Amino acid sequence: MTLTHRFGLPLITVLLVLAGCSQKTNEANSNEVSEAATSSKQSTNISSANIINADATPGEWLTHGRTYSEQRHSPLGKVSTDNVKQLGLDWSFDLGVSRGIEATPIVHNGVMYVTVTWNIVHALNAKTGELIWTYDPEVDKSRASLLCCDAVNRGVALWGNQVFTGTIDGRLIAINKDTGKANWDVLTVDLSLPYSITGAPRVVKGNVIIGNGGAEFGVRGYVSAYAADTGEMTWRFFTVPGNPENGFEDKAMEMAAKTWNGEWWKAGGGGTAWDSMAYDPELDLLYVGVGNGSPWNQDLRSPGGGDNLFLSSIVAINPDTGEYVWHYQTTPGETWDFTATQHMILADLNIDGDQRKVIMQAPKNGFFYVIDRKTGEFISANNFVPANWATHIDVESGRPVEVPDARYPGKKPYFQLPGPLGGHNWHPMAYNPQTKLVYIPAQEIPFAYTDDPDYNYEVGKWNTGTNLALATLPSDEATFKAVRAMFKGRIIAWDPVKQEAAWTFEHKAPWNGGLLSTAGGLVFQGTADAHFAAYDAASGEQLWKFFSQTGIVAAPISYSVNGEQFVAVASGWGGGFALAYGGVSALGGAPNVGRVLTFKLGADGQLPALPNTVVTAAPPPPSTAPENVIAKGAKAYVLQCAVCHGDHGVSYGSIPSLRQSPYLGVAAGWNSIVREGARTDRGMGNFSQFLDEETSEAIRAYIISEANSERDLQFYKDASGAK
Ligand code: CA
Repeated sequence: MTLTHRFGLPLITVLLVLAGCSQKTNEANSNEVSEAATSSKQSTNISSANIINADATPGEWLTHGRTYSEQRHSPLGKVSTDNVKQLGLDWSFDLGVSRGIEATPIVHNGVMYVTVTWNIVHALNAKTGELIWTYDPEVDKSRASLLCCDAVNRGVALWGNQVFTGTIDGRLIAINKDTGKANWDVLTVDLSLPYSITGAPRVVKGNVIIGNGGAEFGVRGYVSAYAADTGEMTWRFFTVPGNPENGFEDKAMEMAAKTWNGEWWKAGGGGTAWDSMAYDPELDLLYVGVGNGSPWNQDLRSPGGGDNLFLSSIVAINPDTGEYVWHYQTTPGETWDFTATQHMILADLNIDGDQRKVIMQAPKNGFFYVIDRKTGEFISANNFVPANWATHIDVESGRPVEVPDARYPGKKPYFQLPGPLGGHNWHPMAYNPQTKLVYIPAQEIPFAYTDDPDYNYEVGKWNTGTNLALATLPSDEATFKAVRAMFKGRIIAWDPVKQEAAWTFEHKAPWNGGLLSTAGGLVFQGTADAHFAAYDAASGEQLWKFFSQTGIVAAPISYSVNGEQFVAVASGWGGGFALAYGGVSALGGAPNVGRVLTFKLGADGQLPALPNTVVTAAPPPPSTAPENVIAKGAKAYVLQCAVCHGDHGVSYGSIPSLRQSPYLGVAAGWNSIVREGARTDRGMGNFSQFLDEETSEAIRAYIISEANSERDLQFYKDASGAK
């Protein structure tokens, strides 16, 4: 099979081009290149002890959250509040992709491992950005249609002499970290169901642990462990019960099933663990964050209610056996896509005079939780963003006190904060043990929840049980602007003991990058409006910023080579909000250029000028289709297309804009893409199973009508061109 790159070049050519693509933006010399070769030969294997004692090698970034406690705090302090203004771009590496990049790079022995769209893994010289090797797992790109939130990946794990990566088509792969050759490649899911992997694996005592995603489409979540050496599965922990008639896998599932009603297993139940994990080596407990229900709407999922364990829960399990130890459920009987898959941080806090071992999480539901990580006991919670679904968390029971109208089924729509994109999503937080503050990339994105009277579970479709059409942005300009003004994003420096903000920094928009804390008293973050900035960890003052050309959603890291400190982040605007709210989120430059950006003191590199490829083609002539056809197209678009191609057909930067598609005016071309799979090699699935030709044509008529609307012509003038 010859893979073709999006620009039509055979993939091998692109990789050869990429090999020369590192931009050493200040003086490069041959010594650095030869050092790269030497360092990869001298590399050492990673063990439990290396990760447990990560602070003994502060220049490395060995696991997703740097340490098993996932604090994302670098002990490096040479770059500090005093000198951060001298920080500049040292090198950048062009990732060759235009979609969302959510990866945290891993750095060991002078080598950086980073993942890109389509699960391609690059090993780079961490000092120079020179490419050492590239591994392409040749994923089935058509699976991108079964991903809720872009063809993204959050990074690799490192163990022994191998790098581990999960793929959007459900595989877990072990790659030799020095040669870039795969040692084993195992399928972790049933591909007849809409499973995917976007999360980074973690390795605990030789077990590579990986979850999966797909709860929007209807699956049953689980976490599995595979032996690092052989790829053999050692255990699997299901997060929600299956059909009781088939017997329960373990006692935890038997207990969980008592909290469900009806025939929940038919749509899978959900509970996918698609991102967060943490590990406490002293307690020997692995913590897993569990996602939302399938479908979202609890009345349709579990009629009559129930807590629906272990949805929206933090679950502690034995890392050797996968056995359940304890759980804490953040949103009992969730019905709002309120995952508890958000980043979890382990720390020891002094609370009321006692030193407590805690686990902390700011899940989508808008409350910040402090939980005893030995027992699962609730300690405290408070909302960190406006939340109108619950008034507070009851201290005695640890349960939310809900606002009754927020459970929307059978009732009028409920306009809610937070919505399904959360008060905080997957973007990692950071904890600074000196300031004792948790830095949260928080946001406000409201959503109108309502029952979907036409809900009918169908494998491969969006199966939320809510009427997504009501959540779309209004077309008239005044209301559009008013709703757009409600979308907010900020850094919150949260005091977990007092359960209140110490400071906040307001951004232009939601969906900003993950956070890094450093011993230099700094917090680093990339933004939706294409900047990378440093803040004073104590006061929140912005001390330095850099125009990154492309929006940033990933989290930065810091590492050192030969005593010199670097700060690095992967740029690449994308993910759920960027796709679904394409127009609203258009704040960065265009086009989207994914890169690794690496900074150090005294460097003054510049990014190459962006290619001028903003499409300004005029839309086809207005559609002659009758109103009812356009309305039908609008409805089908919202249900089948909008989550990737954007509200009202506006997408910006990462996925081609349908309004400017050259096929918009050509029925045969449109049909070949939508119903014949002509673009499956770029991640556009074949929708013939869900859209007949008449509906596909109605969608085309709707997009033509949108492309000709006055508001939208103005919108394009506003949105095009780099800011
Ligand atoms: Ca979800």
